[in-house]
Amino acid sequence: TAEGGDGGNSSHIRTFLRIRPSKRPSGYIKVDEFDKTRLGFHVPVETKDGEYVNNTRTSHKFKFDGVLGEKATQEDVFAKIGKGAVSNVLNGYNSTVFAYGQTGSGKTFTVTGGAERYVDRGIIPRALSLIFAEFKERSDQQFTCHISYLEIYNEQGFDLLDPSHDSKKLEDLAKVALMEDEDGNIHLRNLSVYLAANEEEALNYLFLGDTNRAISETAMNKASSRSHCIFTISVEGRKHGSDKVMRSKLHLVDLAGSERVHKTQTGGQTLVEAKHINVSLFFLEMVIVALRERGAKGRQHIPYRNSMMTSVLRDSLGGNCKTVMIATVNAEAAQTEESISTCRFAQRVS
Ligand code: ADP
Ligand code: MG
Repeated sequence: TAEGGDGGNSSHIRTFLRIRPSKRPSGYIKVDEFDKTRLGFHVPVETKDGEYVNNTRTSHKFKFDGVLGEKATQEDVFAKIGKGAVSNVLNGYNSTVFAYGQTGSGKTFTVTGGAERYVDRGIIPRALSLIFAEFKERSDQQFTCHISYLEIYNEQGFDLLDPSHDSKKLEDLAKVALMEDEDGNIHLRNLSVYLAANEEEALNYLFLGDTNRAISETAMNKASSRSHCIFTISVEGRKHGSDKVMRSKLHLVDLAGSERVHKTQTGGQTLVEAKHINVSLFFLEMVIVALRERGAKGRQHIPYRNSMMTSVLRDSLGGNCKTVMIATVNAEAAQTEESISTCRFAQRVS
């Protein structure tokens, strides 16, 4: 289902903006009253004492397929993005949902959710719940669901569902390796893939992976914002009495923080990391733009091999695949520069 799309629109990715609520009054991101998919930044002016004052002049206008403002709930996000992704995968299309934005802008909250309150569940647990509900609903078919959870850090893959993950140091962990077969299909060696018989089992894998993620965070010097995490739900469906098997995947991706190097420490480890993150975000952009151009101009070469992430997502971007990017921004005035740069990224790939 992945390749050989019908060109044109299908190569376009849909972009949504989610604005993380801020405690301090902000209000400098103004969503257009009439066309709620447009917005502008009233870039605040920084005063001598480090305060920000609002600016009435609008600069930097952006357009998205949808804007989830500060009041948007997790349910709203799921209704706009998650439900469609689930129905795509159940209808046999590979799909990818990315969260892109600076550290602290709400990527993990959006993708996985907050741990404390049930209403704070993010896209992954809600998607799992809907998938298993749909399995029951579509009783003319027999379905199976497999789960894997991969973390990519400095271009190295780690299996977040490896049961022995917790007892090891980063350098002792088994690395997930990319392998390509004669037909050019990518396989991941050392990445566990578990059958989840029901929602509860699937949620347990998510929980195990998130626990391991917190552990590797320590191993990575609390720098998990420097890694990309890909939660993959693979679905197989077969109509009763038929041997035709439908296979599709839904990747839910929590990207590394998009903040630029100059803002983080420069030197040693962090610089190496920042280079890798920026390089893989850059290659992701390159692949998405190349896919769009292929749709428009019939251009053929798609540079998937440049990074581990694009290699892993190779059969789930472009063509007939459905791709959604959620750009997350922090509504605080002090984050304006990063918020604008996140919006710019989203405009370039859409
Ligand atoms: P990121 O993954 O982009 O670094 P997080 O998702 O960890 O950011 O969000 C940073 C903090 O803000 C977390 O404490 C999170 O719970 C909170 N947060 C993020 N988005 C929201 C939201 N929409 N509503 C309430 N709290 C949020
Ligand atoms: Mg995060």
